[in-house]
Amino acid sequence: MRPDILNPLFADVRSLKGVGPGLAKPLDRLGLARVKDIAYHFPVNWIYRKPVSRLDVSDVGTNIVITVTVMDHRSSGSARSPLRIYAADADGNYLTLTFFGRNGGWARKQLPIGETRVISGKLDRYGDELQMVHPDHIAEVGGTGSPGLAEAVYPLSEGLTNNRMGQLAAMALADLPVLPEWIEPSLLASRNWMGWEPALQTVHRRDDQAARDRLAYDELFSNQLAMRLVRAAMDRRKAVPIVGNGALVDRLQLPFALTGAQTRVIAEIEGDIAQSRPMLRLLQGDVGAGKTMVALRALLRVVEAGMQGAMLAPTEILARQHFAGLQKLLSGLPVNIAILTGREKGKLREATLMGLADGSIHILVGTHAIFQEAVTYKSLALAVIDEQHRFGVSQRLMLSRKGRGVPHLLVMTATPIPRSLALAVYGEMDSSQIDELPPGRTPVETRVISQERLPEIIEGVARHLASGKQAFWVCPLVEEIENSDLAAAEQRAEQLKLRFGDQVALVHGRMRGPEKDAVMERFISGETRLLVATTVIEVGVDVPNASLMIVEAADRFGLAQLHQLRGRVGRGAERSVCLLVRHVQIGEIARTRLALMRETNDGFRIAEEDLKLRGAGELLGMRQSGESPFHIATPEQVRELIGVAADDARLLLDRDGGLEGPRGEAARLCLYLFERDAGIATLRGG
Ligand code: ADP
Ligand code: MG
Repeated sequence: MRPDILNPLFADVRSLKGVGPGLAKPLDRLGLARVKDIAYHFPVNWIYRKPVSRLDVSDVGTNIVITVTVMDHRSSGSARSPLRIYAADADGNYLTLTFFGRNGGWARKQLPIGETRVISGKLDRYGDELQMVHPDHIAEVGGTGSPGLAEAVYPLSEGLTNNRMGQLAAMALADLPVLPEWIEPSLLASRNWMGWEPALQTVHRRDDQAARDRLAYDELFSNQLAMRLVRAAMDRRKAVPIVGNGALVDRLQLPFALTGAQTRVIAEIEGDIAQSRPMLRLLQGDVGAGKTMVALRALLRVVEAGMQGAMLAPTEILARQHFAGLQKLLSGLPVNIAILTGREKGKLREATLMGLADGSIHILVGTHAIFQEAVTYKSLALAVIDEQHRFGVSQRLMLSRKGRGVPHLLVMTATPIPRSLALAVYGEMDSSQIDELPPGRTPVETRVISQERLPEIIEGVARHLASGKQAFWVCPLVEEIENSDLAAAEQRAEQLKLRFGDQVALVHGRMRGPEKDAVMERFISGETRLLVATTVIEVGVDVPNASLMIVEAADRFGLAQLHQLRGRVGRGAERSVCLLVRHVQIGEIARTRLALMRETNDGFRIAEEDLKLRGAGELLGMRQSGESPFHIATPEQVRELIGVAADDARLLLDRDGGLEGPRGEAARLCLYLFERDAGIATLRGG
């Protein structure tokens, strides 16, 4: 349970004075639901003002604050011409305050003739008059609401003004609780950081990097702490040590020799699973590096030891492809492999569930269905998670309840993750890399081409298909208009069919499972030759004869996503080409990004760039699921501070693993504040 001291922060925004239904929507659009969200809604910019007493020596074009006396109101009477209010400084220099539209009545009230007011705004020249159009603040001398010399500029949504947002922030900050410090004192001192409460106050008052860093650090620290707590919780429970006898692995017939990197990684994994400390290992390897083979070797060890293994794929297509591939490799071996997805129903499903419960099924492949409550394993000892970025800390915890003891866990990913982010997302894991592709692969040639040249592209496809090869044609995801991605893909498929007839197939995310599989199977078998797709083919699909990849509206895709798509080709010995089709008009940034794709095949470099440009959530495909690891910390702050946070978290837990000492108690608050409940849950009843 969240400590009471944090309750005011978690209170609904509507508990703030004056926040009624009218503001609910604009705030909701910004994702601001609770008082704490407002407090953490940081300014993105600042307006600086110069206090001046005389107009005749003030710089035109700057924002000023000045005290003036109102001399006269003048309007032509016509609704369309502006209201002009004449005012003078203490030396009698004149200033015209100009109000357009319906603000006139309000302005007259704010600026009565003969009264003195403090005003702020940008000083302009209009003809030979000094002018200020719509002063941004008008206040009584010595009264509240006087313009500050630095004003925060907040991200806004329709229906919300900057002034209003500033008031909300002030209310949210008005009674912040005083929380004990959770950051290591020496770190706080060496970085010159202030406490949590002053830091929050400060970021709303001035542009202060140290204050922002401190608050970002809190988020990183909570992340690292939660990860380590999960790891510690898993370590407290035992896994079954797996040592195979070679009965299966030695008989496995592969059509190729393993690469050095595969062999090394297999040894690392076998070393891990032989321990009673549960394996928690991240296997990174670019698309086509041969991760499946590594997984298979580990799974076979488990079966040799008389236990069960499971492999989770993110999509139905991929689950089926894995299943078919593994089945083929395992033919002739006494291994019983089964598949389970949302589509296996009725008797078939029952039979699989029975086989899992009585141990007669050795390896299960499937989608997330394989770890649902209803699925009971006799002796699950290894779970392999393939290409699944959304397998977060809480899922890992849930999985730990599935086995006899904790199953060993291998997470495989083809998204190269920048080191900083890997620490943030997989911080509690050990990591292995397949940094070598199987021999004989030629790098994919990447070209960027304008949409205008579509006819030429189609001619190119015609030559490609005529030579007996296959191709992918990816249509963009247009987010703004519902279903329009599908429409675009359908339309393109129709057009290409006119030219290429039955060779063309269409696959998209909204197809039903069996239908989708049938389309994929016909393409894999070579029956169809040009596969038009929305991004459903992004992950894992393996068709060696497909050596041309066309990505339409490539300037809309993220870099990591383009890299994944490009990885679908270049799988055979054939020279492969990836055509990135761009809009006719694109901006400078899009141009640079596409150039980078052309220039490099280095997934890590691409991922670093993507992280800089789009942030972690996008890169990890977590944006929709709301699981983006960080809301406060920017990519730069992650890069700079995540390592420090990792060390700090480790030191704290080494000294106080139960978070029971004074700093431990404070750290719990930090975990609650950032809603890393999974970490805290491990402490309860440990
Ligand atoms: P990924 O790492 O992207 O999951 P896969 O495991 O799907 O890669 O392997 C890609 C392709 O490379 C598959 O067709 C697989 O059979 C093949 N492959 C795997 N290991 C080797 C190897 N050592 N030599 C040659 N081909 C290999
Ligand atoms: Mg794969």
